[in-house]
Amino acid sequence: MMSPGRVDPHALPPTLDPGAPVERRPDRPTPALARALTAGRRPVVVPGLADGWPAVRDWDFAALAERVDDTPVLVERGNIMQHASRFESVGLRDYLAELATGRPADGPFRYLASLDLFEHLPALADDVDFRWFAAARPRQFVFAWLGPAGTVSGYHHDAPDNVVVMVRGRKLVHLVPPAQSRCMYPSDKWDYGAVLSSVDALAPDLDRHPRFAEATPARVVLDPGDGLYIPHGWWHHIVSLEPAISVNCFAYTRRRFVGIEARELGKALLHRFGLYADRCTCHQWVDGVRVPKPGKHPLV
Ligand SMILES: [Zn+2]
Repeated sequence: MMSPGRVDPHALPPTLDPGAPVERRPDRPTPALARALTAGRRPVVVPGLADGWPAVRDWDFAALAERVDDTPVLVERGNIMQHASRFESVGLRDYLAELATGRPADGPFRYLASLDLFEHLPALADDVDFRWFAAARPRQFVFAWLGPAGTVSGYHHDAPDNVVVMVRGRKLVHLVPPAQSRCMYPSDKWDYGAVLSSVDALAPDLDRHPRFAEATPARVVLDPGDGLYIPHGWWHHIVSLEPAISVNCFAYTRRRFVGIEARELGKALLHRFGLYADRCTCHQWVDGVRVPKPGKHPLV
């Protein structure tokens, strides 16, 4: 019997279970580790990577609520990667207080995803540390992800390399290699710097997406302090098993960043004027009107 506010991973659909394990490499966060991870081009779990972070020691929802202003932030409602984009403005302090109760809200989950840590929570940014990773990937963007049990980031892959660090709670991650992209049905829904899958892995429609059944995802549960390196191009699907806080670092080499950013800014400019991507994660439809998600990315 699971306690309220938790998700039993064994209750997830069989397509998400079991999967092969991800390589584990206990190590310290050093430039040598950054070079080893990025040279491998395969996902790696680094257990206890962030055990020394003040964030892992100190952060929980109640403690964070004490340290932030009640600034408005946008939360995602439900899985916006495979379903309609829906956002909602909430007060950050109220939202953290709600999460601290551990009770899921009614209706689709509310997920504070990709919160710019340095912009919204500058007082907390010193509690995390990705400087070690800059040895291999110096162009970095750090985000916080906070939500109740059951939040989902549906299958997608990102242009940057990614280090995910679990701060509080646990998350179940599935990873599919780029070589299996034919099983993942890339979507025409646009997400800045990412490619989304059309497949809702928690309710796959195998009549529409039959090759999804042939994908062989690797699977890992992240505990607090664990790091997960996800190379760019690897599809990933992430479910919070408990109320959870994670932090991630999207990172590029300088050269690769310039190329990707030029490409995505070009798309964003066309998108702004309705010339690229009818479906996206940066707008939602409200009463028949396309409304941008503020701060999602420049040019929108
Ligand atoms: Zn958009």
